[in-house]
Amino acid sequence: MFVDVDPVSFTMDPALVEKAITKRTKAILPVHLYGQCADLDPLLAIADRYKLFLIEDACQAHGSEYKGRKAGTIGIAGCFSFYPGKNLGALGEGGAVTTNDEQLAQKLRMLRDHGSLRKYEHSLAGFNFRLEGLQGGLLGVKLPHLDNWNEQRRGVACIYNKNLEDANLKLPVEMPYGKHVYHLYIIQLENRDQVKQQLADRGIDTGLHYPVPLHLQQAYKDLGYKEGDFPVSERLSKQILSLPMYPGLSNQAVEYVASVLAEAVKCQAATAKAQ
Ligand SMILES: *Cc1c(COP(=O)(O)O)cnc(C)c1O
Repeated sequence: MFVDVDPVSFTMDPALVEKAITKRTKAILPVHLYGQCADLDPLLAIADRYKLFLIEDACQAHGSEYKGRKAGTIGIAGCFSFYPGKNLGALGEGGAVTTNDEQLAQKLRMLRDHGSLRKYEHSLAGFNFRLEGLQGGLLGVKLPHLDNWNEQRRGVACIYNKNLEDANLKLPVEMPYGKHVYHLYIIQLENRDQVKQQLADRGIDTGLHYPVPLHLQQAYKDLGYKEGDFPVSERLSKQILSLPMYPGLSNQAVEYVASVLAEAVKCQAATAKAQ
């Protein structure tokens, strides 16, 4: 079952979780979306009460924190992607699972290598999910820079915040419980598509993360959801816009994006009024 998100943090709304639990539920799987942790304490309490596992999707949250603890260290397991565009990215595909549970770690090691720990012995039907040595080597070189890169992302976010505070749009909110690592910097605005085009006309590329919510994807048609089932996700999918964000983006570039954006939003508001 899916659960709608909280409109401020964009992460799983703990108030909606219990309603979604059925006899078949085994785990709660919050996504630390855009680089910010979901509110894990209430989710852990529910997991405890219903004897469910809490698994963290930390694929966008390398180095992010929840009440002083790192993303991926709080649930029974944390899942990381090293897709090149992530805060910690390989040169190609890659990923990792973190856990403090020795038994689970052993099972995961087997699953990633066709269910085998010793050559010719397959005790599980597994997969080929082995990380390439080359990718591991590169990730080892990049990992020591992660905290510094995340600080640079936070610096970029800070300049956007300062330069856009008077613009008529919604800025991302860093929740008091955690540390945001701004995998993405997401704003919300009514006439998103026009503003996106105006930015493109001035040479500024922006992204949509994501334009179609999961429950409306063809892949999950079988679950029987329809438009209106997850109103917050649906509204966000129409209003969100991802601004340029990466470590090393210059202050000047961020200020330029912010000024073009503020102007575009003002223009759109004026045109809307005139019509
Ligand atoms: C990137 C990403 C994934 C998938 O990672 P893969 O490396 O493609 O398996 C899963 N969840 C979130 C939130 C992501 O951003």
